[in-house]
Amino acid sequence: MYSRDVLSEKLIHVVIRVAVGFRVRNFKIKASSPGFEELVRKAVEYSSKRLVRVSGGQMYCGLCGKGPYTRKGMYLHLLRVHKYEIKSIVGEELEELESTAAS
Ligand SMILES: [Zn+2]
Repeated sequence: MYSRDVLSEKLIHVVIRVAVGFRVRNFKIKASSPGFEELVRKAVEYSSKRLVRVSGGQMYCGLCGKGPYTRKGMYLHLLRVHKYEIKSIVGEELEELESTAAS
């Protein structure tokens, strides 16, 4: 069984990359089942959508509203300023998806 805390920590970088539109390489999770892999994929997708707001073709931070940023700037801002917030967002999404899957 995995720890949600450890998994969320591992997913921080993946979620940020997806949010700013960078390619994600070598993203593999040791999933116990295809269903769980799907759940993680969804948690990454839902979390990443909360991190960036696009307005007038420009990227703004979805968490504090700062911007506009370039892709690289957005990536660095999220990583430097919101790392632990992002970890909790991923944790929440995982928890919610798990409870939905269990019911
Ligand atoms: Zn921000």
